[in-house]
Amino acid sequence: MTSFSKDHWLTLKATTRLPNQAWINGQYLDASDAACYDTINPATGELLVATAACTTADVDLAVAAARQTFEAGVWADQAPAQRKAVIRKLAALMMEHREELALLESLNVGKPVMDCYNLDIPGAAGCFEWYAESIDKLYGEVAPTDRNSVATITREPVGVVAAVIPWNFPLDIAAWKLAPALMAGNSVVLKPAEQSPLTALRLAGLAKQAGLPDGVFNVVTGYGEVVGQALGLHMDVDCLTFTGSTAVGKLFMRYSADSNMKQVWPETGGKSPNLIFADCDLDAAVEHAALGIFFNQGEVCSANSRILVASSIYDAFVEKFVAKANAMVVGDPLEAATEVGMLIDSQHAGRVRGFIQQAIDEGAVVACGGLGETDGCQVPPTILTGVNPAMTIAREEVFGPVAAILRFDSEAEAVALANDSVYGLAASVWTSNINCAYRVSRKLRAGTVSINTMDAIDYSVPFGGYKQSGFGRDLSLHAYDKFTQLKTTWLKLG
Ligand code: NAP
Ligand code: MG
Repeated sequence: MTSFSKDHWLTLKATTRLPNQAWINGQYLDASDAACYDTINPATGELLVATAACTTADVDLAVAAARQTFEAGVWADQAPAQRKAVIRKLAALMMEHREELALLESLNVGKPVMDCYNLDIPGAAGCFEWYAESIDKLYGEVAPTDRNSVATITREPVGVVAAVIPWNFPLDIAAWKLAPALMAGNSVVLKPAEQSPLTALRLAGLAKQAGLPDGVFNVVTGYGEVVGQALGLHMDVDCLTFTGSTAVGKLFMRYSADSNMKQVWPETGGKSPNLIFADCDLDAAVEHAALGIFFNQGEVCSANSRILVASSIYDAFVEKFVAKANAMVVGDPLEAATEVGMLIDSQHAGRVRGFIQQAIDEGAVVACGGLGETDGCQVPPTILTGVNPAMTIAREEVFGPVAAILRFDSEAEAVALANDSVYGLAASVWTSNINCAYRVSRKLRAGTVSINTMDAIDYSVPFGGYKQSGFGRDLSLHAYDKFTQLKTTWLKLG
């Protein structure tokens, strides 16, 4: 993995312009009432920029631009190979601007800049590349009708797609939505999380440079209660793809029912279990358990936040896991060695501390990290033992670097504990017994089960949840199910 010094990033920062206006119909624009809100670097508290706080009038403008371009066919009617060339160019431009995008992402959300450089930016560019490459390999169907008819089943774009996304992987999640939506021929209005507008706005400029027609991709910045709600309730949005909390995901289903019955695809929260059986490779399990809950400061929807450990190896696991957590480098996101950066803002950090305090109050034991070492937006890797399934820490999503460890005595108990959640996004299973691995995987109510690995994810496989982790799937060719509709064309032969 590449590594750059903090000085390298500070030098780049001195010459990097931070975008702060909305992007509507191919132009950067202030909000219609000129209102702004502060975009803050959580690592330093520094004001980065005053970002446009868009109004419902701005949302109307962006949706109108998306509708107009969609109806005019400037993008939707281009041949797949033409759309492919534009989006491949966008992916290439993102890689050309990899350092700039990594810096923007890290300054904006506090995650380690080298993770942004090595993972987030190539991950997002690769997503555009993958979908660009897929579009001229997708075929329609011919139905088995009688000899006097021909019936084709083709995929058509839905029309105007709105995407409302969170702040934990701003550019990656934007790419997961935008790449298949755009490749399918839709026009898109993106609302980044209020805290994390920078990379989405920079991406918009790069998309124009790549040749995407004006109005096909718009970014409206601002508050969820204003911009998000206006998109959710809009009569001219055909499909709304959402990633965020379960509570807000439910709101979008209501908005749809209260407006035009737009398709809503919620990808929401999680409390994913990590099942560690006695016959596993313990060192590998410990290493990945740490990655599973401390990577990205634990601000990962599929974070393995409930660690279920076989009683016979419980003490050995906890000892090694605590040693691993204590050895992790926490701190300045611009330092190359940093593994755990800053949480998104002080309000969220306070919420995470509140969960730790509540766990202590309910009887959990802090095995490492905890409240004593917290400061500002920083919360150290924290491990709680003595957790039982009724405690809040075993049930609610923390969205921070906090692991709750529970124990089990049998395979059946492990499965029951794992499934004892309103969520079902992901799960991991650690065992050297293939029969146990497969038996357990089949019983787990989760969208992705990783066996002897962690958070298995790739463009080629669907990502999404069971239960209140939402429905619909990001990534893979299945994402096209959200952004296309099926057209039957029946020809009666004369
Ligand atoms: P959030 O509060 O639900 O916000 C998500 C988006 O919805 C933001 O753009 C937000 O705008 C907007 N929003 C908030 N309130 C709204 C309202 N009343 N009406 C319309 N839109 C509204 O989530 P978050 O705190 O940004 O992100 C953390 C959550 O995302 C966690 O629960 C995590 O599990 C989930 N997540 C899920 C996945 C997945 O694929 N399943 C992936 C990543 C994250 P503002 O920013 O202005 O509030
Ligand atoms: Mg929010």
